[in-house]
Amino acid sequence: MKIYIHTDMEGVSGLDNLAMVEQDSPRYGEGRELLMGDVNAAVDGAFAGGATEVSVLDSHGGGWANFIPGRLDPRARQDTKPNGKWWGILDESYQGTFFVGAHAMAGTQNGFLDHTQSSVSWHDYSVNGRRMGELGQWAIVAGNWGVPMLMVSGDEAACVEARQFFLPLETAIVKRGIGRGRAELVDLAEARSRIREAARRAIALVGKARPFQPAKPMEIILEFNRSDYCDDVAARPGIERLDARTVRKVTSDPLELMP
Ligand SMILES: [Zn+2]
Repeated sequence: MKIYIHTDMEGVSGLDNLAMVEQDSPRYGEGRELLMGDVNAAVDGAFAGGATEVSVLDSHGGGWANFIPGRLDPRARQDTKPNGKWWGILDESYQGTFFVGAHAMAGTQNGFLDHTQSSVSWHDYSVNGRRMGELGQWAIVAGNWGVPMLMVSGDEAACVEARQFFLPLETAIVKRGIGRGRAELVDLAEARSRIREAARRAIALVGKARPFQPAKPMEIILEFNRSDYCDDVAARPGIERLDARTVRKVTSDPLELMP
């Protein structure tokens, strides 16, 4: 029973300030500590539920070494992306994936630090006409190997979003966004307990949860915030420019879901 855990930072327990997810901020260290606590709670829950192998990907900000060396539960393996791909070593040998520390898609009311890939340049992203964010994107990538999303932890908006895409699913709500920049936190011990329990229960969804596989070919539409962000992407092969800020791509390859 192999489980693959994808991580982000915005949706981590105890984290209620943008500065805690920014690498050059004096509060970033606090964010890293909190990240490790949530990751290890999920790892512990996965093993408690019956997982025999757990791989974990550090992915916030493209995975710029948010993990604190030596602090990952030694039973888990950190995916160092030996292939250089953003999905690392995920493949069909895994029975499910978790998303720890998730945030809601761009444009979500009361989603703490809601965004999709880039809060600066990305305005809206959709696949086959359905708006989605990083939860959906990760699930499509996992779906490439038939791996279903089993568990999500994050703020309330992220968990609500996840349940609109993936059912059955276990979720752990660790805070509630108040507008975009603030969050009302669940007590840290309680939040970690929720993550551990959701992870433990999620193992029982193996064999019931289905991989997320939109109909192919997939029509991907990405609207940027400004036309200059669109200029570079629009010049890439296979990209059609719909208007000043918007590109369209049609692909049957789940690993090509980013324009
Ligand atoms: Zn992030």
